[in-house]
Order: sequence, then C-alpha cells, then structure tokens
Amino acid sequence: MRGLIVAVDGPAAAGKGTLARRLAIALGLPYLDTGLLYRATGRRVLDAGGDPGDAAAAIAAAAALTPVDLQRADLRGPAADRAASAVAAIPAVRAALLDWQRSFARAHGGVLDGRDIGTVVFPEAPVKLFVTASPAARAERRLHEMQGRGEAAGLAEVAEAMRRRDAQDSARAVAPLAPAADAMLLDTTTLDAEAVFAAAMQLIEARLRPDSP
Ligand code: C5P
Repeated sequence: MRGLIVAVDGPAAAGKGTLARRLAIALGLPYLDTGLLYRATGRRVLDAGGDPGDAAAAIAAAAALTPVDLQRADLRGPAADRAASAVAAIPAVRAALLDWQRSFARAHGGVLDGRDIGTVVFPEAPVKLFVTASPAARAERRLHEMQGRGEAAGLAEVAEAMRRRDAQDSARAVAPLAPAADAMLLDTTTLDAEAVFAAAMQLIEARLRPDSP
C-alpha cells in the first residue's frame, strides 16, 4: 500500500477521524487530520486577540504554523470549531495549507481526512470515501465526545452549532464540502466504528482490484 493516497471527506462528526485513523493503521500509511491545520490556524488568531474571519490575521497565522501547533490541547470544542471554519473560508489560508497537505503524503502516501481532500488536495487519489451520517446521529456523537472531555452542552445547542458549521463549510466559494464525483459514499448513521471500518475496507478492496472500473 506504500504510496497510496486515501481521501476521507465528510461533514463534522460523521466518523471520518476514527475511520481514517484505523485505515491508516490497517494499510500501513501515515495519517493526517487536516482539520487540525485549520483549527490550529484559528487558535493562533484567537491567541493574538484577532478575529478568525479577518483575512490578514488568518493568512499570517497560517503562514506561521508549525507542527507543534497541531499538538495543542485546545484544538477541540465550540470556539475552536467556529474559528477553524471561519479561517477555512479564506482562499489564501487554504492555499497556504495546500502545500503542507500535499507534501505530507507525497513521499509515502497517506490517509487524509477533511472536507476537500478528494476534490482539491488530491483529486487524483485512487481511493476516496465520503463519510456521512444523519444530522441527529452526528449531533449525538459530538455531544458524547464533548461530555467525554468534561464539557457541558445540550443536544439542541450542539446540533445547531454543527448545522451552522456544515452550512458555512458547504457554502464557501473555495473548496466547499462536497463529495468528489468518484467518491464512494459511506453512511454511518446506523453503524458502529467496527462496522464502518469493515464497510470501508470492503469498498477500498473493491476499488483497488485490477478489474475495478
Ligand atoms: O474536521 P474538523 O471538524 O476538525 O475541521 C474543522 C474545520 O476545518 C471544518 O469545519 C472546516 O471548516 C475546516 N476544514 C476544511 N478543509 C479540510 C479540513 C477541515 O475546510 N480539509
């Protein structure tokens, strides 16, 4: 599997991250959670007291990003979600982060999860999965994650924040959240992590068979 690029895209809390991490281990490939790049960029802007929607501040933050930023402990949670989605709508921020993502996988391949991996970052990736789940299932998963981190939140509030973020990610002019034409769709609404992994491996094996169209 050396050199293979697997794109895993989809909306928030659809199960992309868990799946992508497992696929990377199973396929022996490096893994990159590309959302962390946008989250860390947003965080840098917030640290400086800036507005993540301000293009100049966000572009400077993206240019200054280092691998250490991706290890920060405060990249999850509602404020980081909103800041990430705001900086991600700025075309020059996306352009600055494109090289990072491409060089990560250039040498040895990789499994990358995000919103535009199959459409923009690696449009030639041989394997593209678009992972979805119903809004209700995604909101419940996100609430569960937040509770696991000890954050207090209500289901309705989490569902609304997620709806807004998905709408912003889908409506932006550059690299909106959308399945690539050749992506394989995987609806995880009624599946647990094990079943999602098994279904994804089946799709990948079918796609990589020499007689696959
Ligand atoms: O995947 P995650 O929820 O961590 O992504 C945080 C935000 O980063 C998303 O809401 C989206 O705005 C942005 N993002 C993106 N393109 C990617 C990955 C994430 O625009 N490839």
